[in-house]
Amino acid sequence: MEQKDKTTNSSNPLLQEWGSLHNGVPPFDKVKVADFIPAEEMAITTQRNEINAIAANKDAPTFQNTIEALEKTGLEKKRVEAIYYVWQSNMGSPELDSVQEIMEPRIASFGDSIVQNTSLFKRIETVYTSPEKDKLTPEQQRLCFKYYNNFVLAGAKLDDKSKARVAEINQKLAGLFTKFNQHQLADESDKFMVITDAKDLAGLPEEVKDAAAAKAEKKGKKGSWVISNTRSSIEPFLSNADNRALREKAWRMFISRGDNGDVNDNNAIIPEILQLRAERAQLLGYPTHAHWRLADKMAKTPEKAMALLEEVWTPAIERVHEEVKDMQQVADKEGAKIKIEAWDYRYYAEKVRKAKYDLDQNEVKQYLQLEKLREALFYVAGELFDLKFDQVQDVPVFHPDVRVFTVSNKTTNKQIGLWYFDPYAREGKRSGAWMTAYRDQEKLNGDITTIVSNNCNFIKGKEGEPVLISWEDARTLFHEFGHALHGLNSNVTYPALSGTNVVTDYVEFPSQLLERWLSTPEVLNRYALHYKTGEPIPQALVDKIKNASKFNTGFTTTEALASAIVDMKLHLAGNVKIDPKEFEKTTLAELKMPKEMVMRHRMPAFGHIFSSDGYSAGYYSYCWADVLSADAFAAFTEAGGPYDKTVAKRLYDNIFSVGGTIDEATAYRNFRGHDPSTDALMIHKGFKVTGAKKASL
Ligand SMILES: [Zn+2]
Repeated sequence: MEQKDKTTNSSNPLLQEWGSLHNGVPPFDKVKVADFIPAEEMAITTQRNEINAIAANKDAPTFQNTIEALEKTGLEKKRVEAIYYVWQSNMGSPELDSVQEIMEPRIASFGDSIVQNTSLFKRIETVYTSPEKDKLTPEQQRLCFKYYNNFVLAGAKLDDKSKARVAEINQKLAGLFTKFNQHQLADESDKFMVITDAKDLAGLPEEVKDAAAAKAEKKGKKGSWVISNTRSSIEPFLSNADNRALREKAWRMFISRGDNGDVNDNNAIIPEILQLRAERAQLLGYPTHAHWRLADKMAKTPEKAMALLEEVWTPAIERVHEEVKDMQQVADKEGAKIKIEAWDYRYYAEKVRKAKYDLDQNEVKQYLQLEKLREALFYVAGELFDLKFDQVQDVPVFHPDVRVFTVSNKTTNKQIGLWYFDPYAREGKRSGAWMTAYRDQEKLNGDITTIVSNNCNFIKGKEGEPVLISWEDARTLFHEFGHALHGLNSNVTYPALSGTNVVTDYVEFPSQLLERWLSTPEVLNRYALHYKTGEPIPQALVDKIKNASKFNTGFTTTEALASAIVDMKLHLAGNVKIDPKEFEKTTLAELKMPKEMVMRHRMPAFGHIFSSDGYSAGYYSYCWADVLSADAFAAFTEAGGPYDKTVAKRLYDNIFSVGGTIDEATAYRNFRGHDPSTDALMIHKGFKVTGAKKASL
C-alpha cells in the first residue's frame, strides 16, 4: 500500500462527512476527478482495518460484534463511491475513463478480499448457525442470512486455490466491463447523423427539429441538424421521419453500437466475459452462470424464469404479426410500395395508431409538459404515501440543471430524505433513465435519511419553453420515480436491507407498479395540461389513450423478451466459446423472432448484462416484475381504485417501507394475500389468457 501524505488525505473533500445541511449532502461542488483514486485508496484502507479488527476479535462471535459490526464499516468508502458513481453515469470524460480503469479492479479486488477472509466468514457462519440467532429480531435474522448467503455465493467456502482463481476472474471481468461500457458510451456520443437539407426533416415534430439544430450548433455545424446515437434521439426520429432512407440509416447506426469493427467494437469482449463467468460459476459449484445468479433471486432457478418468458413469448410474437399486418395495410393504402422493415416499425405503428385508434402521439405530447408531470409525481406520492416535496436552492449540485427537493411526511412534517432531479440529456451522461441512492436510509448509525436521484435524458428545449415529452417518456419518468419512492419510503434499521436493496427480479416491481398511476384520471385531469392553453387533456383524448393502451404491446413485449431470452440462453450455455453474431442469429431464428424487429438491446450494446454482473442472467427481471406489478395493481382496482387508502397502506407496510428485510416472495404474499399470477399481465397487454397453464411465480 502506497503511503499517502496525511494532510492530502485529510483534506480530500471526497472523504469528508457530508455536513449537517438537510441531514448532510454530497459535496458535489468540491469534486475533482484527480481526488477519486487517493480517496478510494484511503477509504479502502480504513474499511480493511475495521474488518480485520472484527475478524481478529478474541471474543466469541455474536450478532453484535460480527454482523452488526460489519454493517457499521466502510462509511467513508460509501461516501466516496456514491460520488464516483454519479460521475461515472453523469459526468463522463476522458480523464474519468482513466480513473475508472484503475478504480474498478481495485473495488472488485477489495470486495473479494472481504468475502474470502476465512476467519471473518467463520464468525459469520457461527452466528448464522447458532441457536442464539432465533432470539434476534426478524430483520436481524434476515441480515444474518444475507451475509452468510452472500459470502457463500461469492466463494467463501472454496479452497485457497479456487478462491484465488475467483478473485482473478473478478479482476479480469471488472476491466472488461469498464471497456465494454466505455465502447458503448463512445459509440453513443461519437457517432451521429448529420442532416443538411431541411427537406429531410419532414415529419419531425418542432421540438425534435429544434433539439437537432441546437446539437448541430454545439458540434460546430450551425445550420444543419444532428441526430444523436442515443435512444432518446433515435426513437422520435424513427417514429416520425418521412424520409425512409434516413430512417434506415439512423436505425442501422443505433443497432450497430459496439458492432462496427472499429476501436469501440464489443464483439471480442463478449465471449471473454461469458467464458470467465462460466468458469467462475463452475468453481462455485453451479452448472452455469445463470444458475449461480438466480440462486438467491425470487425466481430461484433459470428454468422457472425461462418458463415465464416462454409463456409470454408466443402470444407476444403472434401479436407482432397482427401489428405488422395492420402496418402493411396502411403502407399499401398510401401507395408506399414497400414491405415493412425494422426501420419502418415505429413510423408505421404511429400511422396505425392514428388510423385505428385516432390517436396522435404528437397531439398527446402537447399535454405532457415535463414540469407538470413532475408535479404529478409529487401528487401521486402525496396520495399514496403522504409525502410532500419542497425545492431547495442551498444544496450543491454537479450540474446547474440538477434540482434538489426535500421530501417530508405531510402529516408529521418529518423530513425523510432528499430527491435530486436531473432530467436532461448531456454529453458525458449515459443514455436511458435511472435512479441512484446516494445514501441509504438506516437507523444503525443514527437516524440516517436517504438521498435519492432520478436521472433522465429528455431533450432540453429552447430557453423558457416547456419541455414536452412523449407518453412513453412520461411512463419512464413514473417508473424511475417508483424506484425513488422505494428508497424514500424505506423504514428499516440496517443499511444492507434498506430501500432498493432487494433481489434483482423484485427491484423493478415497485417502479413498474408506479407507472400505472400516469394514466389515472386524477393525474391526467390535473397535470396533463396543454402547453399553450393550459386546458386539461380532453376526455375524448383520454378515452383514445385508454383504447389504444393495448396497442403495439406485441412490439414492446417482444423486443424486451427477446433480450431476456438471449441473455438467459447466453448464460446457460456453459463454458464454451461463443461467437456473438452467430449466437444472436441462431437463437433469434430458433425463437422465430419476427424479422420486422430487433431485440431491444443487441448483444454488443447490451450494457445491462455486459457492463457489470448486475443484470446478467437477470434481464428477465423486467418481465418478472411486469407480472408482479400487473397483479399488484389489480389489488387497487379490485378495491376502491388506484388511490384506495387501505391498499396504499398495505403497499407501504409490506413493499415500499420494508426494503429487503423480508423474503421478497413473502412480502408480496403479505401485500396481495396470494402468490402472483400472469393473468393480470396477459389481460393488461391484451394477450390471450391461457388459463390452463397459469404460471404461479
Ligand atoms: Zn427500473
